[in-house]
Amino acid sequence: MNLITNNHTKVSCDLEFDRQHIWHPYTSTLAPLKCYPVSRAYGVHIELESGETLIDGMSSWWSAIHGYNHPQLNQAAHKQIDAMSHVMFGGLTHHPAISLCKSLLELTPQSLQQVFLADSGSVSVEVALKMAMQYWHTKNAEIPESSKRTKFLTLSHGYHGDTFAAMSVTDPDNSMHKMYKGFLPEHIFAKSPSCYQINQGQWPTYDPQDITDFKNKIAKHHQEIAAVILEPIVQGAGGMRIYHPEFLKEVRQLCDQYELLLILDEIATGFGRTGKLFAFEHAGIEPDILCLGKALTGGYMTLSATLTSQTIADTICSGESGCFMHGPTFMGNPLACAVASASLEIIKQGHWQHQVAAIESVFASTLPALQNHQRVKSVRWLGAIGVVETYQVVNMENIQQLFIENGVWIRPFGRLIYIMPPFITTPEQVTHLVDTIEFALNNDDCFQYIPK
Ligand SMILES: *Cc1c(COP(=O)(O)O)cnc(C)c1O
Repeated sequence: MNLITNNHTKVSCDLEFDRQHIWHPYTSTLAPLKCYPVSRAYGVHIELESGETLIDGMSSWWSAIHGYNHPQLNQAAHKQIDAMSHVMFGGLTHHPAISLCKSLLELTPQSLQQVFLADSGSVSVEVALKMAMQYWHTKNAEIPESSKRTKFLTLSHGYHGDTFAAMSVTDPDNSMHKMYKGFLPEHIFAKSPSCYQINQGQWPTYDPQDITDFKNKIAKHHQEIAAVILEPIVQGAGGMRIYHPEFLKEVRQLCDQYELLLILDEIATGFGRTGKLFAFEHAGIEPDILCLGKALTGGYMTLSATLTSQTIADTICSGESGCFMHGPTFMGNPLACAVASASLEIIKQGHWQHQVAAIESVFASTLPALQNHQRVKSVRWLGAIGVVETYQVVNMENIQQLFIENGVWIRPFGRLIYIMPPFITTPEQVTHLVDTIEFALNNDDCFQYIPK
């Protein structure tokens, strides 16, 4: 019996265990796709156990905006873990949460005055939807003959998370609503606006038709609607669609006209990703309820925040329940709050503005050339988000391998190859990411064969 196993055998045994027993996001136990073990990550780099060092094009799904292993974030985490990793938030409070919420109020519009801290983006959406429901529960109690508001109006191609209420406002096809029929509440979906491309800082002419379906649905259903929920300017996981700020402005006007709450889900777009601190700034509007997550801790750990106005909060709390009915175990986790505070300090220094602008200008000078590629349906970009939409679905295993052989980490889905690198990525590194996408486009093995 050989008790001494070398490192290589250990790695392959562990990988086999992973394949057999561990679920990864949206994967099958029958046909698990290959996973690459990571040994460490620093700056814009992800280092694999097999020795390759990759330039990260994903920021670990929008979150690691300052890069990995950041000295200031590490320091905040070390300092906090030595003081306390966690204490309950019921009846207790602490400096990390206070300092984080102060920063959040400083960075967001004046009208937002109340912060609810939760564990993940999906939960922050659940909280936002519950806030809207509880708000109307109070309001309706004042007007006995009013109709019950139990519906949300949202857009097709949206994504708001994987928990049930979040899923119920996510694109019905992408989130398989039919599988949950009878269980999932049925909300109202308006047609998603067209995709637009900003050019040299200028938005193209807005197509007023974009709002037609939304306008009709809000006019027809406003009495049953509690709130409108959508992702401002960029619809992320539901299709990487960039839309016109004018659409968002019109949505705000319609919400005001019908006195509906507007929930903006900035979980992907918040904290500079689109070139503005928050994507709603492109439209010069403000939400009634704002969801933040992903980059909130600079990608260190899971934390989210839902913000709302004093009036909405007070209305909720003057209702039958007398409070807002939510309170997760790990609410306001000090460790996560301390790191989030440190991340917001980096944001406040403002370097992200020229970093994101520099990434955007690489996209502007490299992506248009890919538009002419026979495999490419369209290219689009905004801030530090670059998207190549292809006609064919990618072959995940092959394209992943090609990316790794060329020193990059990019994780496409379906017909979308997209990158949102950490803000500290240099123009040369961004160029390498785009060049590698082009290289993949020229490789038949990277795409699924479509019979003629
Ligand atoms: C990722 C995401 C969510 C869900 O966040 P989780 O932390 O994955 O639960 C919600 N809304 C948007 C726009 C997202 O991009």
